[in-house]
Amino acid sequence: MTDTFNDDDAFACAGLRLTVDLGALVENWRDMARRSGRARTSAVVKADAYGLGIEDVGETLYAAGARDFFVATADEGATLRLYAPEARIFVLSGIWPGMERRFFENDLVPVIASEEQLTFWMSVLSDYGDYPCALQVDTGFNRLGLPMDDAIALADDVSRPASFAPVLVMSHLACGDDPANAMNRQQLEAFRKVSAAFEGIEASLANSAGIFLGPEYHFDLTRPGIATYGAEAVPGMANPMRPVATAEARIIQTRSVKSGEAVGYGRALQLTRDSRLAIVSAGYADGYMRSQSSGGVPLRQTGIAGGHGFIAGHKVPVAGRITMDLTIFDVTDMPEHLVRAGDYIELFGSNISVDEAAKAAGTIGYEMLTSMGLRHERRYISEEAEE
Ligand SMILES: *Cc1c(COP(=O)(O)O)cnc(C)c1O
Repeated sequence: MTDTFNDDDAFACAGLRLTVDLGALVENWRDMARRSGRARTSAVVKADAYGLGIEDVGETLYAAGARDFFVATADEGATLRLYAPEARIFVLSGIWPGMERRFFENDLVPVIASEEQLTFWMSVLSDYGDYPCALQVDTGFNRLGLPMDDAIALADDVSRPASFAPVLVMSHLACGDDPANAMNRQQLEAFRKVSAAFEGIEASLANSAGIFLGPEYHFDLTRPGIATYGAEAVPGMANPMRPVATAEARIIQTRSVKSGEAVGYGRALQLTRDSRLAIVSAGYADGYMRSQSSGGVPLRQTGIAGGHGFIAGHKVPVAGRITMDLTIFDVTDMPEHLVRAGDYIELFGSNISVDEAAKAAGTIGYEMLTSMGLRHERRYISEEAEE
């Protein structure tokens, strides 16, 4: 026996704790792979694997068979390399002077996305010799990518150095989450021209939402992110993914408050009945966004009255404003003995989806997940561990 405060203790005592179901993660990724048909399926693990931890997520998806990964930065790539030894790791923000060694030492593939990066990359090749890269081409998103015409000219340029050897040409959909949007087909047609120009080089267009658009969008490699993490890729469509992340916060105190009193900053919630409140250890500094407050937040214009928590079979609303470290829930409508100081309340998970919580905050599951990164204890479970 030891009296050392260990990870399990930390999780058991945490004010805010996040449980990541790696079994569900793998199932979701395999689901994406099945839907990708003949295309290979990568894993997008940027932003610390959407806030769920690039080390464990990377290692788990690598063990499940993922061999292509996308990260946003070279630092993320260097971390991932330790957990995905044989994988191809693409760095979406590309490469800048001074970063060559970071790329070479970790065997990272830069995604070249602008004329400046292309010029620099050509000079790297003339100094160091052959090294793979990917090319991002803009087909209408107007974020990163070489202009279409420049990309096609590059493909046809017989004078380009032989050591310039892109292994992937890619583009990104602007409206994939809106299947009826005509933009999808326009980008598809544009990208077909690009991929035809780079014949023999693998092509990639679809993120999670793009995978749902059907086989035409899959090309050689798909790039699912959000669906693997269980959140919705296509709003309005029933989400077929399993929830992966559960966020729970500890109830520090409960209190009874008389009708006519008000709750919290700005007295934003006026009580019209005798109420019971639970004060919970999570706030906007934890990524539990202030815009989920029950009232008085003009930023949110969703028509939704505020966020909810879930405890002992009951869904309970946020009361008043969410503060830096604390959130108040109105638990008046549930049996008193079911809510005790020390208990945990679900902020999102299998009872309140991350998307529902995000909508109450006027945002999307992506932001909800990636915001929860600052101050929590994290635990990983899998189907095996649950047995
Ligand atoms: C983030 C990202 C993805 C993954 O998108 P999801 O909507 O999370 O599936 C794919 N490709 C690019 C270029 C990205 O930036």
